[in-house]
Amino acid sequence: MLHSSDIVAPDKRTPGVAKIDPVIFPVLDKLYARRIQRLSTQADALGENGEYFRFLVHLVQAQQQYIAQNPLGPDEAATVRTLLDQKRDHAHLQASLLNIPYWQAAYTALVGQVAPILPSSVGDKLAALSADKEQLAHTATHLLHLDYSQVDAGVSVVLWAALSTCWAQAVSLGQTQDLPPSTTQSAHCPCCNAPPVASLVLGGAREGLRYLQCSLCEARWHRTCCLCGL
Ligand SMILES: [Zn+2]
Repeated sequence: MLHSSDIVAPDKRTPGVAKIDPVIFPVLDKLYARRIQRLSTQADALGENGEYFRFLVHLVQAQQQYIAQNPLGPDEAATVRTLLDQKRDHAHLQASLLNIPYWQAAYTALVGQVAPILPSSVGDKLAALSADKEQLAHTATHLLHLDYSQVDAGVSVVLWAALSTCWAQAVSLGQTQDLPPSTTQSAHCPCCNAPPVASLVLGGAREGLRYLQCSLCEARWHRTCCLCGL
């Protein structure tokens, strides 16, 4: 005779999630603070092997500080949102990026914050790119077109972080839940078309719901698991 069961008794069942938001937009200051805390914990756990996590802590702190001191204005946000579908060819996107000073200044600020803790050769390479806006826009275009092999790996981490500060604010300022259903179930971000960096099963009020985390604009979008339908 069976004495226990995994089936929850009817009087103990919770009502579930009444409404599923297609997209969750980030509160950037809180997101960065949480990320800094988690990266710091990981760096401490690894001790002397935690150098890369300590570098990432510096980088996210620099993002948080830059956004706090230089919030993106509505006009620049509107300009960035014209680029979000990423369907422009290389020359057109590069020219558009050259005309948006915000992400370029963000890159310069992030380099200023992280270069002192990097080997001088790496810091010099990052700073040289900051001084050459044409090359900086050319490199950023490769990243946004996901041509990762065309970009130095060390540069790409800092440059992507700079682009993210700009794209995340632009998407948040223009946020809407009114997205076509076909895009919210996409493998790419329905807000900026970048690929996801992780798949998350959430807790709290969204217990059990699966969202993908955007690698660029920090939005999360609901996507059921293709295997189990969760
Ligand atoms: Zn996105």
